[in-house]
Amino acid sequence: MRVIESADEIRAVRRSCAEPVALVPTMGALHAGHLALLETARSHSRTSFASLFVNPTQFGPGEDFDAYPRDPDRDLATFEAYDIDYVFMPSVEEMYPPGGTTTVDPGAIGTVLEGRARPGHFKGVATVVTKLLILIRPDVAVFGEKDAQQVVVIRRLVKDLLLGMEVLDVPTVRDPDGLALSSRNAYLTRDQRRDGAILYRALLAARRRWEAGERDAEALREIVRREVAARPSASLEYVSVADPETLEEVSQAQAGALISLAARVGSARLIDNIRLSP
Ligand code: AMP
Repeated sequence: MRVIESADEIRAVRRSCAEPVALVPTMGALHAGHLALLETARSHSRTSFASLFVNPTQFGPGEDFDAYPRDPDRDLATFEAYDIDYVFMPSVEEMYPPGGTTTVDPGAIGTVLEGRARPGHFKGVATVVTKLLILIRPDVAVFGEKDAQQVVVIRRLVKDLLLGMEVLDVPTVRDPDGLALSSRNAYLTRDQRRDGAILYRALLAARRRWEAGERDAEALREIVRREVAARPSASLEYVSVADPETLEEVSQAQAGALISLAARVGSARLIDNIRLSP
């Protein structure tokens, strides 16, 4: 495994890589969710890249950029153990040349749900991911369903900017009680971690009602609201039942619709989602 910090060096090694090439972008603090992405990347490529970069532009003012968990030595050892060929670990100055003004704006799909709660978040995500995709030119880029809107935004930008690579999404890896693994779970106390499991249980309750024939999206949102309200340490920020491609709210929940939510549990802001499947 080789660790690379400069964009020029990445471009140079990329020229002689065996193809297909896969890329897993990460912000580090690796957990089993990331490992599932690394395995997918390995099984779809002859040369695998991961990136390790806590991207400042996707954090809003007052968010946890400074506090975000960082453990690069442990992360590098994990990438090595998973046989990743190249890890791109740039500095902020390398990714964002001083004085830079160019950004990538994903438009309306970046301003609903997480984008409404976190203004500018998806502009930051789209900008950094576009840079990574242009630099590394992977055949396959791998992301987690855990961040469902992120996958929608990235599929859209790959299409709109004619980048041409395949975007693979990997099912959410969860703790045995259903809590989606997240680097931010490190902020939870033991009791909050236990309460965090309500988020997935609430999503499952809504899906069960849908499987039993309920199609009224507002009734499904209400189930999630009620379930989460039963846990005093959890406070729901939003629940959405939306079209899986446009992310517009629906009134009737068809197969494939995406139920997603964000909630505060203690000091952590957690997100989760589930698809309605027949
Ligand atoms: P992050 O380091 O949080 O930016 O995440 C890097 C990638 O890992 C993103 O594509 C995430 O969607 C994905 N990811 C994060 N948590 C999980 C999880 N629990 N299961 C699967 N993928 C995940």
